[in-house]
Amino acid sequence: MPDFAGMTYLTFETCYYLGMKEWLSEKKKIVGEINSEYGKLIILVSLFFICVGLALTIFSLMVTQKLEVSFLDVGQGDAILIQTPSGKSMLIDGGPNNNILAKLAREMSYFNRKIDVMEETHSDADHIIGLIPVLEKFNVKEIILSKAVSDTKIFDDLNIHIKNENANTHVAVAGDIIDFHDGVIVKVIYPASNYIAKKNDTNDASISVEVIYGNETFLLTGDLPSTEELKLISGGVTKNITVYKAGHHGSKYSSSELLLTYIKPEYSVISAGKDNRYGHPNVEAIERLQKYSKEILSTIDRGTISFITDGRMMEVETGK
Ligand SMILES: [Zn+2]
Repeated sequence: MPDFAGMTYLTFETCYYLGMKEWLSEKKKIVGEINSEYGKLIILVSLFFICVGLALTIFSLMVTQKLEVSFLDVGQGDAILIQTPSGKSMLIDGGPNNNILAKLAREMSYFNRKIDVMEETHSDADHIIGLIPVLEKFNVKEIILSKAVSDTKIFDDLNIHIKNENANTHVAVAGDIIDFHDGVIVKVIYPASNYIAKKNDTNDASISVEVIYGNETFLLTGDLPSTEELKLISGGVTKNITVYKAGHHGSKYSSSELLLTYIKPEYSVISAGKDNRYGHPNVEAIERLQKYSKEILSTIDRGTISFITDGRMMEVETGK
């Protein structure tokens, strides 16, 4: 990995040295008037700040040439923040409450009040409640909607907020691609365009995407059950996934043997809350994940789990 701090310092040092050298050589030639010296001093100070600015810009460009995918510790639910090398952001689900705002504050710059893309995988409360405060606090440019429909008050509230946001909205279907134009693409692989969602049968409609950057691929399937996972394979899911978010918080009825044999995830991530009433993650699901994954990480034990990659190497950071 390049030494970013060293390179930045070198840039600053070179830039400043050239300016200083120029000033000193000028000084030798001119035994000038005081006014002229003041002028030189102003130029020198300006040059100093220009060099600092240039060095900081180069530094920030170099250190952000990475994709960061964070599985936020929001308790029993899902919220995944994707930050791309060019500084774009995508939020997939918002978790079951307002805690999302504090979690985002820890991952994003204080001055960043923009989310480029928001996606609801489906309309269940543990995925959409947190999207409401996010819409209130952030400027969301594009919203990816699922085909899932619910007759809950929270779903109605969310739709009112989405309408008020005046963002571009789009109902996701397999084949859609979100291109961040910095090497990161998000590919929708489920549901098919002819899929018709049944009312309140929301898990089946979970938008499933792959986030791809270089050699690294993340598979995020919301609460998709095993019965639909076969369609991920026919939908063209990548073999040998780097990071798989275990479907439906590690439920017994997701992460089927059939899917795992195909995707063989290096890491499996479980997003769930401690002592939740659903018994997630399920023991049988964990056994299946252990059989195919090199490592299983759970937000219950590790807090927020972040994967940081340049497209070749993967680093993992956890909150606990
Ligand atoms: Zn859920």
